[in-house]
Amino acid sequence: MGVMLRCWFMDSKNNDMEKTKIRRCYSCGCTDDDCSQCIEKTGEPCRWISETLCSACYSNPDKTLECIFTEFRQFCAETYPLATEASCLEKLKHEAEELSGEVWRGERKESEILEEYVDCLMCLLDGMRRGGFTIENMRLAFLHKLAKNQKRDWIHNPKDNTYSHKKVNA
Ligand SMILES: [Zn+2]
Ligand SMILES: [Zn+2]
Repeated sequence: MGVMLRCWFMDSKNNDMEKTKIRRCYSCGCTDDDCSQCIEKTGEPCRWISETLCSACYSNPDKTLECIFTEFRQFCAETYPLATEASCLEKLKHEAEELSGEVWRGERKESEILEEYVDCLMCLLDGMRRGGFTIENMRLAFLHKLAKNQKRDWIHNPKDNTYSHKKVNA
């Protein structure tokens, strides 16, 4: 926990760059040579899910959405020091346009579309963090807004299939 490990690093004892790249799980830090902590946790050695993520971390039920969001927020704070709330929202616009374009054109590759949804969510989450909101703030505001929307009556807009809520005069 705490400090995040970078994905590749060089072994200073050896000069051959290709051979000394050690593959390391970004999340738990295990390598091909030392996976003892995964074995301790799951009873078996992990596999690679991607370049920098091991199967023990990927299928770990303790990695809830909240844990992942927390890890992501820390990553953003360390990695994008000059980003601002406004710059995150600008990036969100680009990401959303890209995603919308692909959905609109119907060129769906499910894994790519999902990754773009995640890109949008990441921009939103980092923007919210830079705006001073916590994950708990978001959880409560989400519940509040959902309850509000559940109580409303909704009108279909045939021109674009969106819905607007009926204005109620208090
Ligand atoms: Zn791992
Ligand atoms: Zn492992």
